[in-house]
Amino acid sequence: MNDCLFCKIIAGEIPSTKVYEDEKILAFKDINPQAPVHILIIPKEHYESVDALDEASAPVVGDIMLVAKRLAAEFHLESGYRLITNIGENGCQSVKHLHFHLIGGTKLAERMC
Ligand code: 5GP
Ligand code: ZN
Repeated sequence: MNDCLFCKIIAGEIPSTKVYEDEKILAFKDINPQAPVHILIIPKEHYESVDALDEASAPVVGDIMLVAKRLAAEFHLESGYRLITNIGENGCQSVKHLHFHLIGGTKLAERMC
């Protein structure tokens, strides 16, 4: 997508602090962290959100989960963490490229909303 912020980060047109990359997935630090560890994990292929996935593309979410688990270990989140994906207007999704927030490093709020 031409004017997608995260596609520009993937292309290296906008700088980011990368913490993981392979042929399908990129993970980088959130610019406005909500916790000591706040990483965004995204597919390199552009999908607007979970709503844009189908049977062929959905397996990328499994790949993202395994990257999340690996990063959680790397960032010493043994005591737990949270994975969130926001979808659409009511989900307060601000960047329209599928992404999972990996959040941890402190005791998180019991309420999620
Ligand atoms: P959303 O609200 O769509 O679920 O999450 C978008 C996230 O992207 C937000 O947490 C926001 O801080 C992050 N973000 C927005 N612009 C940039 C950017 O240019 N670089 C990085 N690293 N994160 C960004
Ligand atoms: Zn994109």
